[in-house]
Amino acid sequence: MGTSRSWMALLSILLAGSACRPEGERADPAGLDAIANRYVVLALTLGHHDPSYVDAYYGPDSLKASADRDSLPLAAIRLAAESLLVRLGDSAPAYGDSLVAMRHRYLTTQLGSMVARTRMLAGERFPFDEEARLLYGVTPPSLGEPYFDSLLARLDSLLPGTGPLAGRYQRFRASVTIPPALVDTVFRTAIAACRARTLEQIALPEGERFDLEYVTGTSWNAYNWYKGDAHSLIQVNTDLPIAIDRAVDLACHEGYPGHHVYNALLERSLVRERGWVEYSVYALFSPQSLIAEGSANYGIDMAFPGEARTAFERDSLFPLAGIDTALAARNGQVRQIVERLNYARNEVARRYLNGAIDSAAARAEMQRLWLSTPDAAAKTVRFIDEYRSYVINYNLGRDLVAEWVERRGDTPAERWTAFRTLLSTPRLPGDLIER
Ligand SMILES: [Zn+2]
Repeated sequence: MGTSRSWMALLSILLAGSACRPEGERADPAGLDAIANRYVVLALTLGHHDPSYVDAYYGPDSLKASADRDSLPLAAIRLAAESLLVRLGDSAPAYGDSLVAMRHRYLTTQLGSMVARTRMLAGERFPFDEEARLLYGVTPPSLGEPYFDSLLARLDSLLPGTGPLAGRYQRFRASVTIPPALVDTVFRTAIAACRARTLEQIALPEGERFDLEYVTGTSWNAYNWYKGDAHSLIQVNTDLPIAIDRAVDLACHEGYPGHHVYNALLERSLVRERGWVEYSVYALFSPQSLIAEGSANYGIDMAFPGEARTAFERDSLFPLAGIDTALAARNGQVRQIVERLNYARNEVARRYLNGAIDSAAARAEMQRLWLSTPDAAAKTVRFIDEYRSYVINYNLGRDLVAEWVERRGDTPAERWTAFRTLLSTPRLPGDLIER
């Protein structure tokens, strides 16, 4: 009897490993589909502890129901994520399909970041650079005073008038601010232009669309809430005056070819065509955010390369907003410098979160290094309180994406091909740096 049962067991194992195995299982020898399902449930469960963690989810209701049913404590989520990492192993096996190899790395990297987030939510605190490395897979550079001094000196020579630089900068910004009643008109015009320029280069899913809303009381300036089925809700915060630059910035960043396009292409290429469920959840505090924010910011340069942006603003948006078009050229020069000053937020966040300065000093530093108004500086510190080292994704992410795309060609066509590839594949920061 014993022997016969052993044979039966052996027979069932042999059958399971041969022709009886379903098609999907044979195509997925490492069991990535099962790990991906579990990853989604864990990400959704972590969202119960951290309301900002799940930025978007449009996958199966059954996985959400499973997360709601289990509702694991943080320690259990961490253990489950660590056990999935053991199943994934230290390195990906040799896959014939490079996208599957990326998928394996993606799951490993995202789960590693999830473990770090559970530790933070349980009360652990890491130094700023370590937190950035654990959550986003990159170590931000430290930029000293000379970096900011040289940019501020260039800005000083561009801005007319007398008195402190911050005051002159803010007066100049006030002269290019969109009257509140015209914000919607200007934004819709900017989004239409970004969309048209993107559609010349990227075929988007049929029926793709967005809704636009204006909100107050948030720590962010704008947000894309991706709903699935190529649909986004874009919200713009109107608490503070909005300078004309923000129209193209936010239209490209939140919409085309930024977050809306990135999400829609991932949904089509990976979730629908490949059935890879893990891309239907977007974990905010994860390495994917460096690609998302970096590509959204670099997307502005993709849609409006070189002088195209200043020309569009001068010829279209300035007249719509009733702003003197003679200011457009200088505004473009000022903008290019202030964009490089974005790294000031990293430096202030590092010192503030590491406990070297308090929130009042952080606000003062934002006014000194980024020339923020007191209100804008206060808002930035609120953002840092809420999102912490996430700030690195905007500037370092943009620069890493720019280097990766620009290494792939000099012509607009070559760069759009690279950019489209980045937005349609499971690439993470390590893929940008190493490949
Ligand atoms: Zn963004």
